[in-house]
Amino acid sequence: MSRSSMKIKFWAFGVHPLPRPHTVKYGGNTACIEVKLENPDRLIILDAGSGIRELGNHLVAGGAFKTGLKADIFLTHTHWDHINGFPFFTPLYIPGTQVTVHGPIAMENHSLEKIVGGQLTYYYFPVQETDLAAKIGYRELKEGHYDFGDGLTVQVQYLNHPLLCLGYRFAFQGKILCTGYDTEPFRNLFCTDPSDPGYDPVMAQEGEMAALQENQRIQHFFDGADLLIHDAQYTLEEYRPAKIGWGHTAVETAIETGLKSHVKRLALFHHEPVRTDQALDEMEQTFFPQALNRTWTFSLPGKEWKSTCEKTHQKKLKFFIHMTMVEMKGAFLKSLTVEGPTILR
Ligand SMILES: [Zn+2]
Ligand SMILES: [Zn+2]
Repeated sequence: MSRSSMKIKFWAFGVHPLPRPHTVKYGGNTACIEVKLENPDRLIILDAGSGIRELGNHLVAGGAFKTGLKADIFLTHTHWDHINGFPFFTPLYIPGTQVTVHGPIAMENHSLEKIVGGQLTYYYFPVQETDLAAKIGYRELKEGHYDFGDGLTVQVQYLNHPLLCLGYRFAFQGKILCTGYDTEPFRNLFCTDPSDPGYDPVMAQEGEMAALQENQRIQHFFDGADLLIHDAQYTLEEYRPAKIGWGHTAVETAIETGLKSHVKRLALFHHEPVRTDQALDEMEQTFFPQALNRTWTFSLPGKEWKSTCEKTHQKKLKFFIHMTMVEMKGAFLKSLTVEGPTILR
């Protein structure tokens, strides 16, 4: 029996579809990631942003239409940059295609089908959903654990975004893939300024604890992932204070989350549309060395310690060992491969 594997390909990296000369390396489409499981074969697509059009054409060129394409599309949420490619997914127009769209539970009486399939109405698009050749099913997910057969399990976690947004933890043949976009760290929602008339020390402390617990829950959700694909829309300078509450993470925080969650590999995803290839390269060169060279504080119940990357490495703790490409080549690429240019460590 041949070895099982999970292959991941990024078809998009941004927030707006902006293909242009200075986005040819990382791409200018919006969220879409292909996850191909082998033995048994399963096609999973994470989000249906404008990148799904390219993926669809690639699948059709590869002969997917001959046997009938079966795919599971997992939507993190229904913001437009994550669903706007759905009507342009060519396999939907080919008889024999079967697609199941998984996504967040209904909000305010708007079902997943109404929001996603609703793009295929005369107001927005010349083709109606009922005219499509494919069989399309919808499945609404809540926080919890799901078994999708063939040894594939998926854990769902609510993230911190203005609209209900799902983080996914896919497990297949011992490999773990996690998504953590669109999201930002949970924060204290109560007033923390003692000079403010609305300040209540008890509420302020409770808010602090609640935020800490939520953030630890997210770290636990990502724990030990072979690959974490994380929101990295801003830098800390851009995030604070202007973009707090917009539901996206600073690149420095994304790296910190990856480190604290002991992930083996981190992909920075969902970039600010103004970024060019050069700007993304510069971000990688700036923020990864900064993260690896600084002193980190770690805590476990009853214990807290500080460590730099080097010392941690010497102690053979997991935190940083797998954060280098060299380490990962041996440990990771044999059965979980990642294609497509991305900022990946
Ligand atoms: Zn969003
Ligand atoms: Zn988004």
